[in-house]
Amino acid sequence: MTFEQSGLFDDFEEEETVVSEQDALAKISARIDQLRREIEHHTYLYYAQDAPEISDAAFDSLMRELRELEAEHPEFIDPSSPTQRVGGYVGEQFAPVKHMARMYSLDNAMDFDELDAWIARIVDAFGSLVPLVCELKIDGSSISLTYQDGMLIRAATRGDGVTGEDVTANMRTVKDVPLRLREEGLSELSDGIDTIELRGEVYMPKSSFNALNAAAIENGKQVFANPRNAAAGSLRQKDARITQGRDLSTFIYSTADDRALPVTSQWELLKWLGRAGFHVNPDVVRCTTKEEVHAFCKRAIERRDDLPYDIDGVVVKVDSFAQQDALGFTSRAPRWAIAFKFPPEEKTTLLRDITVQVGRTGVLTPVAELEPVTVAGSVVSRATLHNLDEVHRKDVRIGDTVIVRKAGDVIPEVLGAVASLRPPEARVWTMPKLCPSCNNPVIREEGEVAHRCINIECPAQAQERLIFWASRVAMDIDGMGEEIIGRLIETGRMSDVADYYTLDEVELSLLDMGRVNKEGNPIRLGSVVAAKLISAIEESKSRGLTRVLVGLGIRHIGKTTAEALTKAYPSIDSLMTASEESLASIEGIGPIIAHSVYVFLRTPGNLDVIERLERFGVVMTEHVSLEDQLPQTLEGFTFVLTGSLTTSGMTRTEAGDKLKAYGAKVSGSVSKKTSFVIAGEEAGSKLDKAIALGVPVLGEAEFLEIIETGLLPESYR
Ligand code: AMP
Ligand code: ZN
Repeated sequence: MTFEQSGLFDDFEEEETVVSEQDALAKISARIDQLRREIEHHTYLYYAQDAPEISDAAFDSLMRELRELEAEHPEFIDPSSPTQRVGGYVGEQFAPVKHMARMYSLDNAMDFDELDAWIARIVDAFGSLVPLVCELKIDGSSISLTYQDGMLIRAATRGDGVTGEDVTANMRTVKDVPLRLREEGLSELSDGIDTIELRGEVYMPKSSFNALNAAAIENGKQVFANPRNAAAGSLRQKDARITQGRDLSTFIYSTADDRALPVTSQWELLKWLGRAGFHVNPDVVRCTTKEEVHAFCKRAIERRDDLPYDIDGVVVKVDSFAQQDALGFTSRAPRWAIAFKFPPEEKTTLLRDITVQVGRTGVLTPVAELEPVTVAGSVVSRATLHNLDEVHRKDVRIGDTVIVRKAGDVIPEVLGAVASLRPPEARVWTMPKLCPSCNNPVIREEGEVAHRCINIECPAQAQERLIFWASRVAMDIDGMGEEIIGRLIETGRMSDVADYYTLDEVELSLLDMGRVNKEGNPIRLGSVVAAKLISAIEESKSRGLTRVLVGLGIRHIGKTTAEALTKAYPSIDSLMTASEESLASIEGIGPIIAHSVYVFLRTPGNLDVIERLERFGVVMTEHVSLEDQLPQTLEGFTFVLTGSLTTSGMTRTEAGDKLKAYGAKVSGSVSKKTSFVIAGEEAGSKLDKAIALGVPVLGEAEFLEIIETGLLPESYR
């Protein structure tokens, strides 16, 4: 059927010569309605059914007419009109949305044995195998769509399962999502039900993903690792116009409440979803034997690479809703469904080279540079080889054909070389003697597997440090990507993390990205990105001391250890005066970590960075929430604990923490600066020293009183 044959125009042109204004308006309104239904129908055929009936040109012509009529008569514009799939600005934050019922995750079967174990449990529960539905597990992002009176009113991400994020404006731009349910499906809803929530997966087809990444490379933007990240990233755009340009699609397969629908099983639900206008994946089977389930899974594995979208497994579900209800849920996932995950994939490819990456802490890591190959849904072109021993153990040589393995989310791994394919010119690799970045000698410490460059000024380390400082785990400077950081280093503008806080917006906007555009002019960062970066840098100043410590890249310091440090020493000043011993006495901090922190805080180059950070306004304290914070009544007093606290049974570390909570300092050794020594049973030399120095000595009973009240014994106040 073509547009001309549809008969739409004929009606419209047979206008009467004399019509009242109202009649004319009624006609226009009817025409608009007719156009909308026609467009919806063809959108459905095109996107959900993959079976278009009219040409693109004819479709565009319908759209144009509708747009024109709506422009002339804005009073008829309706949010469910196909012209309203336009993106708008979402705002700073995606509003939280509570799901009608929890959005569960799925339990996994990692191989056929685990799948069979699940099937056996179903057999156990019902006495024999009940019908199962097998669907492809789409590797995208979960989405929930709420319709009220047939209109799409909300779209939300899964979030934590209970509450998701409102992405309505974004999802409205996804063309296979009906803005209004088809009459066929809508009319079947149970009486009294006006709101329903449907669920499925939003994904990016492989071809669109490749095109998106190709364009990103062209424009010097960051590429997405795989279509799943691309889909999730495109969905969560603050500006829905960006989402609109991203070619997302959906497959819908579930509902929050099946009682609203005229269906009693998954199989019937999928049929209804199709009738209601949703895009439903056609690759489904209803099975009654284990063999059929296996056959579907095997076929999915084989066809995986040929499908136009990524899948990461097969979801097997008990078909009947009554039987699903009988099985119920665990706290995490339904018992009536299982995700059969594809086995790790192995591919062979050429090892073109082994390069060395210098890490943040100076460790040199050999990296396999591979001929790009698609493994388990993403393109692999590099893989870490960890260290020299590993390269030798695997005996991989440059020029070898190597086996690369990857499972879903797992990082790709080089398993080894195919010895029979080794060319005579294959080269054995060794660790370079000089750092590839700064040419200083590489060392390998006694008993360590890693090779290191210990030059503090090594630019590779600077780059890694700067990247790390801006990363999520550390100061979270949104938008500060590797390329920009690289350019700032190359142009001599940054060499350490304090330099971030000296950047200026105009200067950033003019930053030469080292490339030229099609006209041959240098590509600059631009004022939009610059403004965003400056505000992100500004925002990062108030992350607090814990994140600063993580961001500084002190050896052995991660989130947990940094938290332990700032709990005991909530300001950089107190931390800098802490002795190595007292650091080591903090719960969760051992002597190795304590040494590393102590040395770091006494290295002149580092002190300079810290001093500048502080001067530029980076918060160097950790905010302890007010409920948690006790009055700092013991501030200015230093305690030393000795002997064992037998009454309370506390360890000295625990006892020290109690004192610190009131702002006291706790030291490991007695000096003239010690305010009090607390002596438990069998106190040793520290007690003698206290007496010799005339430092007041308190017993355990007095100690307990102090930590109970936060006050010193009366005679000392
Ligand atoms: P996981 O995140 O690995 O626990 O897997 C659960 C997720 O798989 C669900 O939240 C869905 O987003 C996704 N999924 C993809 N395809 C399907 C499908 N056909 N049926 C159910 N869930 C699916
Ligand atoms: Zn170096």
